[in-house]
Amino acid sequence: MVGAGADVEDSAVEAALRPKSLAEFVGQPTVREQLDLVLTAARQRGATADHVLLSGAPGLGKTTLSMIIAAEMGAPIRITSGPAIQHAGDLAAILSSLQEGEVLFLDEIHRMSRPAEEMLYMAMEDFRVDVVVGKGPGATAIPLELPPFTLVGATTRAGLLPPPLRDRFGFTAHMEFYEPAELERVVHRSARLLEVEADAPGAAEIASRSRGTPRIANRLLRRVRDYAQVKADGFVTREIARQALAVYEVDERGLDRLDRSVLQALLKLFGGGPVGLSTLAVAVGEERETVEEVAEPFLVREGLLARTPRGRVATPAAWEHLGLTPPRSGAP
Ligand code: ATP
Repeated sequence: MVGAGADVEDSAVEAALRPKSLAEFVGQPTVREQLDLVLTAARQRGATADHVLLSGAPGLGKTTLSMIIAAEMGAPIRITSGPAIQHAGDLAAILSSLQEGEVLFLDEIHRMSRPAEEMLYMAMEDFRVDVVVGKGPGATAIPLELPPFTLVGATTRAGLLPPPLRDRFGFTAHMEFYEPAELERVVHRSARLLEVEADAPGAAEIASRSRGTPRIANRLLRRVRDYAQVKADGFVTREIARQALAVYEVDERGLDRLDRSVLQALLKLFGGGPVGLSTLAVAVGEERETVEEVAEPFLVREGLLARTPRGRVATPAAWEHLGLTPPRSGAP
């Protein structure tokens, strides 16, 4: 799909398109300014930067920012993720092999196991862990000093983190969806790097269908490039972008197949709701998390879906967008 998932070709190209410095990072002016202060001050003091928590929807640049933090601090980076750390021992192994000043990027930090999380508290605060050796009554905790490091945690929702963990970050940045003009800059920048020629209306068309997300903008650009290369002379105009995105089922509002199937299920199967998230996810054959974290933030932001205490509800705009008529008592 051309939505928010990732495939192998994508990962290689994504790496090539990542901005390498804060100055190159497009958009997110507040986060950039705040982070610049945090990093510059730490550099001036010759200290390791404070721990940073990045929250925001997938594809907004959390991994990119963590790499930029390391680059700006002239430090190496280690990348891992919450689901990869199931035992406290996994975390101890990583922490004890860090170099002084190293950046540890922990993606999906909210999905770490509880014992690992508790070990992380002490590591973040005191740069120390207790490694438990042995089992049962004979078990002993051996304290292990760690070099100072910067933890960069990423999560789709900061609210999912237990407060003791959240409070141990010295700086928390919430990444917003990008404005169309910012995404246009992302598209132009990526087009330059990929050596794709695109005029301003062509780039604007891609940007406006990218759901406020740079990763999607980059992916749509590559699919439009394919179309332009095969069906035309390789140059991306508005018309070429429109034709290409119609082939890939990305509509003019940026909804892809997943978004539309969520809306369609909500409207056609459940009369516009309210319906519970799990039921909705089963109806579209997706994981709860995919519906909640990939499709919904955008649908909510577009005013097409509302999350209410009684469940998910379609707005009148959703009926209109799919060209359907709401039942008389259905829509709110
Ligand atoms: P996930 O949580 O799904 O891993 P993420 O938030 O970590 O996503 P990244 O992998 O950092 O997102 O970014 C996705 C792609 O978008 C990268 O290839 C990068 O090139 C591009 N990108 C992200 N933010 C920006 C930006 N501000 N300027 C230019 N390109 C960006």
